[in-house]
Amino acid sequence: MKELEIMLEIKNLTKILSDKLILRGVSLKLNKGEILAVVGPNGAGKSTFFKCTVGLLQPSGGEIIVDGEIIKKKSAATRKKIGFLGHESFLYSTLTPLENLRFYGKLYKVKSIDSKANQLLKEVGLHLFKDVPIRSFSRGMLQRLSIARVMLADPEILMLDEPHTGLDQDAVSLLNMIIKEKKNIGTSVLLISHDFEQVQALADSVAVLKKGKIIDTAPLNADLNLEKMKDWYSRAVSEG
Ligand code: ADP
Ligand code: MG
Repeated sequence: MKELEIMLEIKNLTKILSDKLILRGVSLKLNKGEILAVVGPNGAGKSTFFKCTVGLLQPSGGEIIVDGEIIKKKSAATRKKIGFLGHESFLYSTLTPLENLRFYGKLYKVKSIDSKANQLLKEVGLHLFKDVPIRSFSRGMLQRLSIARVMLADPEILMLDEPHTGLDQDAVSLLNMIIKEKKNIGTSVLLISHDFEQVQALADSVAVLKKGKIIDTAPLNADLNLEKMKDWYSRAVSEG
């Protein structure tokens, strides 16, 4: 059997915020082409974990290894392998979708930005609005544009923090299709979600984060249907 290639490894990650230990030693491995869902109660530290991993927050301790390379403060090139979708959109409200993507395209040194941006705007269903300043956009439209922004540099790892929030049914299907296509070409995905249906539809395995620690992990297969997953989660959270 072909050995699994580890794309992202987190070792004993800790984070102190305002004298509180928010992450208490998070460890996990993400294989190439794997989709791992991270679930857990509000305030468990999921977003903090993602922000530390992508470099928006400085970890207090532990190790982050991306594609075999230990991340240091200045590992910008390696960090570019990760595409991050967070709670904030990181978009500029006075700019149009096309202008926003051009801006990020330059930042990420994307080749043929305009054709790539137009292609992505078609994919996320915003092509008709590509020249409209986004300040008038709905939450869902902004989320669609954020998805396009994250895909712009073809990251090898996607870290998506509650990406389905605010999306209508069409956009949910669209996002899931994009995620599955990315998986098929070998992209690895870490996904925070409260929506077990989406977790079920997408993930290969699921990890429960509670009070700054991963307390349980399970593979998602035919044995773990939606009901069983909910039971397993409730049990893990009440015991862990
Ligand atoms: P989750 O995404 O799982 O809901 P977060 O990572 O957003 O959780 O937050 C984890 C904990 O860290 C919460 O208790 C939150 O109040 C706390 N927290 C987040 N940001 C800060 C901060 N800047 N200063 C102090 N505490 C923070
Ligand atoms: Mg969060």
